[in-house]
Amino acid sequence: MKKVKVIKIDVDKCNGCRSCEVICSAFHAAPKYSSTNPERSRIRVLFDPLKDTYVPVIAGEYTEAECNGRDIYTINGKEYDECAFCRASCPSRQLFKDPDSDLPLKCDMCEEEPPLPEPLCVQWCLSDALTYEEREEEGEEEDKPGEMEIGLEALVKKYGLKTVKDTLDRVSKS
Ligand code: SF4
Ligand code: SF4
Repeated sequence: MKKVKVIKIDVDKCNGCRSCEVICSAFHAAPKYSSTNPERSRIRVLFDPLKDTYVPVIAGEYTEAECNGRDIYTINGKEYDECAFCRASCPSRQLFKDPDSDLPLKCDMCEEEPPLPEPLCVQWCLSDALTYEEREEEGEEEDKPGEMEIGLEALVKKYGLKTVKDTLDRVSKS
């Protein structure tokens, strides 16, 4: 059996306070909690003033190329832009990329030792727009790539393995 961690998002309860963005970026700052910057957050609250809706979106997988197919959502009779609620870190937009390094950002469920009782964005969401659930499913636990692995993979795809290796060699000697 494997443990599946789920954050449920209730858009109707989100008031746009952005506490989730603040705590997520603080948790992932280096050193931890030393700064806040929503652009480094793995959760972003998208707001469309004309449609008066806040939608929290949690960063998902990195994708190397723009996808060819696009989704257009209509909610309560209001049509939203293509890509509006996509979770991917993707070349076609700046969402879910570190503002300094341009490396992709992905939610890691605030994993650390000892484990937190709940992810921090859930703890900081006082409106209960975010709630946490764990359940057991059939199957083996997967080895999930860590932040370092995701970042290195993105660098290798962008610059090639040799350049990344040469740079690491140079940095380790300096
Ligand atoms: S903390 Fe909760 S209510 Fe506030 S913006 Fe985030 S999801 Fe919405
Ligand atoms: S679970 Fe943690 S890493 Fe994921 S969006 Fe929430 S605060 Fe950020």
